[in-house]
Amino acid sequence: VKRELKNGWRRYRPSMTQEAQTRLLVTSGLRDALERSEFQLHYQPQIDLKSGEVMCLEALLRWFPEGGVPVPPDLFIPAAEASGLIIELGQWVLGAACAQLAAWHRSGFPRLRVAINVSPLQFARPDFAQSVERALEQAGLEASALELELTERGELSDLPAVLGQFRALQHMGVHLALDDFGAGESNLGRLLHLPFDVLKLDHHLIASLGTQPEAQMFLPALQTFASSLNLELVAEGIETEAQLEAVRALGCQRAQGYLLGRPAAVWPPEPAPR
Ligand code: C2E
Ligand code: CA
Ligand code: CA
Ligand code: CA
Repeated sequence: VKRELKNGWRRYRPSMTQEAQTRLLVTSGLRDALERSEFQLHYQPQIDLKSGEVMCLEALLRWFPEGGVPVPPDLFIPAAEASGLIIELGQWVLGAACAQLAAWHRSGFPRLRVAINVSPLQFARPDFAQSVERALEQAGLEASALELELTERGELSDLPAVLGQFRALQHMGVHLALDDFGAGESNLGRLLHLPFDVLKLDHHLIASLGTQPEAQMFLPALQTFASSLNLELVAEGIETEAQLEAVRALGCQRAQGYLLGRPAAVWPPEPAPR
């Protein structure tokens, strides 16, 4: 990070676009934010469609700058990736999510899993699998309680390096998920080159279920493909009962979305005050 600073990440250039300038400000703020503990994880449930039970919670990063308005991850994650800070931030997420899961296991939910979003930059590090192993050990968790979601954003510049980490993680028993499948940018190549366990269908794909006949025809074929690769299907962005029924009929094993539970700082949700 220091080296990148010298290379001019924070230097102002008049040619910079508005977006680049915003990103620059956000990046310098991020470093301080990590030191001031301004990050939090919120958790969104994933429901097992057979049993109806919550089987996994996805950790979603939140930044609450002191005295400011919350910054959405879609803005600060790319900045953290551009500056390299995503490595440290990702380590924090891993540690915090594992600690939370261990607490849930102790408080009567011993089979619960946690899903964590991981940047391609983290996966490309030669010590990534090892750092995951350490985080699991520290929290006293089985590797099978952890699912890592590879986000679509960014290039997988070093596929052999990522594949090496994938194999090590899979050998440990960690589940690996491909996020945002069908979001537009095709990540079919990733699916063919990396041994995923789980495929997360993007919310745009789910939303098109009721409106685009093509989606209706595509999804059963995808289901066949997924089951032949032994991939579990998770549907994201479920907002209506009709969508829930549609993905159930398609043979998705899990569903996640506002209909089933919004991301929240506390889980299980506290009973509403009377
Ligand atoms: P994602 O991994 O695809 O996460 C799902 C996003 O959809 C979340 O947005 C979630 O709040 C939102 N969502 C959940 N249910 C629904 C629904 O029913 N309808 C709609 N329209 N949206 C729904 P969020 O929390 O703003 O996160 C945005 C993205 O930021 C995530 O997308 C993920 O790519 C990234 N992200 C979040 N936390 C982390 C993290 O710890 N590390 C990394 N590398 N990326 C993260
Ligand atoms: Ca995700
Ligand atoms: Ca997603
Ligand atoms: Ca598997």
